[in-house]
Amino acid sequence: MKPFIIANWKQYLSIKESAKLFAQLLQLDRDSKMNGVDLIIAPSFVALPVLDAAKTKIKIAAQDCGATLVGAHTGAVSPTDLRILGATHVILGHSERRAEYFETDALIAEKIKAARAAKVTPIVCVGETAAERAAKKTRVVVGAQVRAALSAVKDPSELIFAYEPRWAIGMGTAVAPEDAAQIHAYIKDLANAPVRVCYGGSVSPENIAALLAEKNIDGVLIGGASAKFASLAACIKNAK
Ligand code: PEP
Repeated sequence: MKPFIIANWKQYLSIKESAKLFAQLLQLDRDSKMNGVDLIIAPSFVALPVLDAAKTKIKIAAQDCGATLVGAHTGAVSPTDLRILGATHVILGHSERRAEYFETDALIAEKIKAARAAKVTPIVCVGETAAERAAKKTRVVVGAQVRAALSAVKDPSELIFAYEPRWAIGMGTAVAPEDAAQIHAYIKDLANAPVRVCYGGSVSPENIAALLAEKNIDGVLIGGASAKFASLAACIKNAK
């Protein structure tokens, strides 16, 4: 299967900057320089209407969604509307949402159900903190997050998991590929079905090849290095 790259633009780019970066990526695709990589970009909600991926191989993910399709939920965004705006995927349970917006496994499970009801594929982020890792609780923490996500779907293959150790996000140092791969294997065992697991946390043009060389690392989720054309294009180039 092709490796995939999920580009999480977080709140880094304005609508105008998102449109510009998207146009540069479309040109890369037209120049046949995608290097066999499946690219999924995750812009902010408000940039979705200006990015038209309809006739391209590039896919679009939202960075979050509401837990219901419709209702009295001020500020929530319906997965139905995300789908209408071209999003085929949605990132759920990102550690920044868990930490800054106190999202729980139970809420994330509801969001997974809502996304699936709108035929949007959830990319579910799981990962331990530095303290949990130091206390050797990685499998306990990740296991609980994965089981909660699995409880929201009939078929585990409806989900993509992103193993993102919280302490490696935005830090400049990724987990050793073989260490990450062990947790990926654990997640796949828990799913007990074909499920894709990508790695996220300080992925860069320098370390992407070593990460993707691991059998159980099916793709990568990139934050900082994905929000600039030069570094994202270098990640794509070095992916294989
Ligand atoms: C992320 O946003 O999930 C992420 C992995 O960020 P970074 O690549 O900047 O560590």
